[in-house]
This record gives sequence, C-alpha cells and structure tokens, in this order.
Amino acid sequence: MMPSATSRATDTDSALLQRQLKRFYNVAFLLFGLKEFFPQKPIPPNHASDDETIVTRLDDDVELYKCFVNKIAQICDIKHGGDTPGQLASVRKFLSDDIFKVLHGMTDEELKNETKVKEISSLLLLKIIAGSRWRIYKYIKDLVANAESCIGSCAMDSSPEVVQESHLLLQTLQEAHTSAFKTFLRHKASNDERHNTASPWSDTRHAIGRLHSYTIAVRVIIEARKKWPDLFDSPEIITFPSADKVEAPFTIKERMCTGKDLLNRLTTDPEVHQDYEDLLPHLQTIDFDNRLKNEIKDPEWKTTVHAEVILLSNLRRESLSPEDGPTRFFMEDKFGKYIGCSKPTCLLCDYYFDSFPIRVDRRKGHGNFYHKWRVADIQGPPAGAMVIDPVVEKLKADRKETIEEMIKKLRKEVTSVLVERRGLRGSRYDSRHTPSDPFGSVATAGGV
Ligand SMILES: [Zn+2]
Repeated sequence: MMPSATSRATDTDSALLQRQLKRFYNVAFLLFGLKEFFPQKPIPPNHASDDETIVTRLDDDVELYKCFVNKIAQICDIKHGGDTPGQLASVRKFLSDDIFKVLHGMTDEELKNETKVKEISSLLLLKIIAGSRWRIYKYIKDLVANAESCIGSCAMDSSPEVVQESHLLLQTLQEAHTSAFKTFLRHKASNDERHNTASPWSDTRHAIGRLHSYTIAVRVIIEARKKWPDLFDSPEIITFPSADKVEAPFTIKERMCTGKDLLNRLTTDPEVHQDYEDLLPHLQTIDFDNRLKNEIKDPEWKTTVHAEVILLSNLRRESLSPEDGPTRFFMEDKFGKYIGCSKPTCLLCDYYFDSFPIRVDRRKGHGNFYHKWRVADIQGPPAGAMVIDPVVEKLKADRKETIEEMIKKLRKEVTSVLVERRGLRGSRYDSRHTPSDPFGSVATAGGV
C-alpha cells in the first residue's frame, strides 16, 4: 500500500462524527501526554514477535506465507509519500514484470538448480535496490553517519570482543551479518533501546537490520514461488491511493486542554482521578499541561490514515457491494484472511482491526502509539446530495461502532497506565531492528 494524496475526507461536516472524534482524540491526547512521561516498556528479549516466530517455524507454511505478504509490502514501500498515479503505476509494473513474471517464468528444474536460483536472486535484488533506492540511501546514510561514532567508541574499548567485532563491522554487511555480529550490535545498543533513546549504536543496528532485510525478502519470495506457483501466474495488481493528511475535525478550547480536563471528560472513576492527582506533581516536572496544550493547539497538527486501515476498509466496502461481493483470499481455508504490511502494526491500527466488523488478521504490532492517526475516510455522494447510498450508510454505521470500541480500549489503556504507572510497550522505530528472516539469516539471496 502506497501513501497518496488523491483521496479526500468527505464527511467531516457531520456534527455527530465530530463529537465522537472529539472524544476519541481527547483520550488519545491524554495517552500521548502520559506516554511522553512514562518510558515505554521495552520489548522483552524473549518476546515472540512475528520475526522470531518465523525463525523457529521455517516449515510452517502459514508463517512463511504471512512473511511473504509482508516482504511484498516492503519491496513496494519505495518512498515515503511516493504516491502519485505515475509512481503507483511504476510499482504495479515493478511487481508484475520484475518480480512475478520473472519468477513465474522459472521452470521446476531451474528452481532446484542452486546456481540458477542465485542468478535470479541477484537479478531480483538489483531490481529491488533500484526501486527502493530512496529508502536504501537513507539507511546507508544513517549507517555511515553513526558507524564512525560506533567505531570511535570501540577504539576506546580494547576488549578482545570489541576488537574482533569492530573488525567485522568494517566488512560487508552480507559477511558481517552473522549471529555473533547481531548479538554484538544488540548488546551495544541494548542500554539505549531499553530507554528508547537515540544513539549511534541503536541507529546503526536499525539501519543494518533494514538493509539486510532486502536480501532476506528475495529468499522469502523465491521460497513462496517454490511452494505456491499459482500466486505468480499473471496476478492482477491493484493499488489503492492513500488518504490526504487532514486537520483534526474538532477544536478544544485553550483553557480546556489540561490533563485534568481531558481526564474529566474521560471518566468519573474516583480511583483513577486520585491516581492522577497523586501523579500530577511528577507530571508537572516535565511541564505536562503546557506540552499537552501545545500539542492539541499545534496549527500543523494533521492526521493520517495508515495503509492497513485503508486496505481493511476497502475490503469492507467490497464485501457490501453487490457487484464485488466479499474478497477472496489466497488459500483462505489454510492461511485465513491476512493483510501484510512493510512494518509492524501500531497500537491504534491493532485496536482498529480488533474493533472492526469483519475479522482480518494483520502483521503483529510493535505497540507504538501515534496520536495523529485517523480512521479510514468514507467516499460517498457529495455533501448536500439527495442520494442515499446504502453501502455508504452501512460504512458510516460501522465506523461509528468501530470508533466507539476503540475509545473503550483507549480508555482502558489510559486507566491502566495511570493506575499501574507504566508505559506503553513500543519502540522508537516503526520497523524492527532485526529483519523478518525465516532462514536464520546465515545465508542470503544469491550470495550478494
Ligand atoms: Zn498504524
């Protein structure tokens, strides 16, 4: 899914929706403020993320299939904001001609021939690098910018481990990305990542992980070709444009922006209010109310619709449309309904999927919370038109129920944060340091 600037929120004029959204963002802002105060809970080392579960389940077709869908999303995620009709057309052409057609054209004998697979892998990787050059350039830039500092810090440390692994750092990523090297990087970055703070080590680790993930993507896609050749047989590739960034469709009076104001509108529970009062002196040490007000009244504050939300809402629209009917998923009886994404799902997307009227699985989340999130827009007859579209009316009813469910979940989260005085689990990055790798990442595509 590519972000785009072509669609438009069409019904933000609904007073009912505005009131509901005001309640939604009221609690979202409070959570945002608290998140700033409480350090986010680090991801436990033994957390079974989608990455690790795949590593231990190489022969699990369901996990491999989901990883394949995510990798396809990753290689199409070519540029932040790369969403003009021309760019969407070039993504379709890239996927169709450079990936699916090439792999579909391979014979069974060629797929068993290691030399041929390496040759094709190299070819695919070159195409992917060309397509994703903007992202790859950014990762390399981060890597180069931070590696110098990492090497500098290693120079101050003469332990045998540091000397050995620093040497590896200077070798190619392919050669260096061994399990010892990954452990070394994780160890060096662990302190900063525990506190979710930026550091050359965590930035370097992130950049290396993202760069390495492209070579893994090629192997996953080739593995999928071996298992499910039908998937590569001239698939129709459809792109959905993303929504514009839009201003929040409500206003909160300046004198009503304190944490206490937001909490008053959220709950009357005396226990929660008492917990908040107890916490307030600590919150004010970071100028909590002022920061909250500045964020709420920020004139640049714009909301975005995340890609997986757009896909899910389009599925719903199709399922209600008499011409389209419910969308069929590949091997649905085995793999279920799954929406892949280039990055793990955020907290609000998770809530959205859990609250939505149709059940579709998605990539596992990292728990990151972005308060500039919004539900999918509903395209319908222009405002003031005398036509009633039953599909649009149903979508509006769905949206109302979904937002209401999400408010309940958010309220529960805020209450837990206050009562337990804990942070949200999450990461500074919206993608993982370690790439999804069903092969244990010892070998990569085509020896490149
Ligand atoms: Zn999201």
